[in-house]
Amino acid sequence: MAKVMVFIDGTWLYSNLRSLGEDFQIDYGKLPQAVGKQIAQKLGDRSVDIVRIFLFGSNATNYLNADEEMVKRRRVFYDVLREEYNYEVEVYLVDYRGRRLKRKDRHPDDDFSPQEKCVDIALASSMLYFAALPLAYDIAILIGGDRDYLPVLQKVRLLGKRVAIASIHGACSYELMEGKNLKGVRDFDVIWLSDLLDDIRLVPEAREIICKSPFHVGPNPVKTDEFIRKNRAFYCYVCREKLRKERPSLDVDFEEEPAYQEPEPANGNGKKIEPALPEPAKPGSLHTGDSYTGVVKRLMEFCGFIGSPMGDFYFGMDDCTSDTDFYKLRPGSPVEFIISRLPNKQYRGKEGNGNAEEVAMVVEY
Ligand SMILES: [Zn+2]
Repeated sequence: MAKVMVFIDGTWLYSNLRSLGEDFQIDYGKLPQAVGKQIAQKLGDRSVDIVRIFLFGSNATNYLNADEEMVKRRRVFYDVLREEYNYEVEVYLVDYRGRRLKRKDRHPDDDFSPQEKCVDIALASSMLYFAALPLAYDIAILIGGDRDYLPVLQKVRLLGKRVAIASIHGACSYELMEGKNLKGVRDFDVIWLSDLLDDIRLVPEAREIICKSPFHVGPNPVKTDEFIRKNRAFYCYVCREKLRKERPSLDVDFEEEPAYQEPEPANGNGKKIEPALPEPAKPGSLHTGDSYTGVVKRLMEFCGFIGSPMGDFYFGMDDCTSDTDFYKLRPGSPVEFIISRLPNKQYRGKEGNGNAEEVAMVVEY
């Protein structure tokens, strides 16, 4: 049995997915096996054992809050790869220096271009490291296509290991793919992902999960094909849409000083919940990862802001703990949370907000 490790250049893969079809989505659970099967055939049906799967990718840091959802979606994607498919994911942060992520959202005169660092070197280091480790693998599969990998593929082969390349037409450097293998970079013909589409296509799979909304109508659990994080409250699409309609006054524009809003009466008995006053923070005494308290200041369809003496904290619906119902939060609700980013007084408005996670409603008796 041949031991195989798969090394995926995640950045290369997302930016070239479209070459496989306009809306093509990869099933990351099937990708390593599908490529491994090709190797098994090339070895004359000797079976292969995929012992490790690595994916190297990046995410944004120091960006504006307006792009929080995009960054979070990427973070969830990496978590799903780790939790569901046993990938080992290495993520390198790209510093946006307080800017928006997409060029079209930045000022036309801003010639800033984000620098992704480390991703290819990290992949090369791991591939070479395990090649030099006795018995770690027999065959390395690179899922990528950049010319930068040429030296590492040659060195891995000098250590007596075999190399396979799985790539995408139009996104593979000539030196890696040319038929004579003049540079000595591989031991098999290039595997083209376009030949494996039926094996690696993501077929959305409906699952059943309980919608946590108190206003949910109809059968519960509901069927969904959305990615679901473990230990997070789930709200079905219908309930999320309903909330969007029921809160038409809520918009995503940030106000510098929102007017104070009277807390809403507690269910039925007319008794008002008095928000707990957060303890004033001593300047500089709080850090990322610390627990802190505040009062919900503003709510939007899927996110909100928590006010505190040290500034405002943004949180998304899925930043609430599993026993906190986002739908039950009201302006004025006292909450506890973990600081995932400190507010920055240097900036005003959106740019200056901190970020909160593990947001929990403080229950008043
Ligand atoms: Zn629902």
